[in-house]
Amino acid sequence: MAKAFLQRRENRRCKWPGCDQRARHVDHIIPHKGDPALRDDPSNWQGLCAHHHNSAKQRLERRTYKRT
Ligand SMILES: [Zn+2]
Repeated sequence: MAKAFLQRRENRRCKWPGCDQRARHVDHIIPHKGDPALRDDPSNWQGLCAHHHNSAKQRLERRTYKRT
């Protein structure tokens, strides 16, 4: 399912602004946190290259685990 998504012409390139790498990963625009409705909804998907997929995840985790 995710593989077919990345094969669509509009999803072949990383969605990160200014990035023109081949998209390798399906990223969830809204973190699904195990919710199947968000996880399986293609309108919540975007293709990202490996680099931006990793950096987006790290940013999110930093925010999630930040303690003040
Ligand atoms: Zn990228």
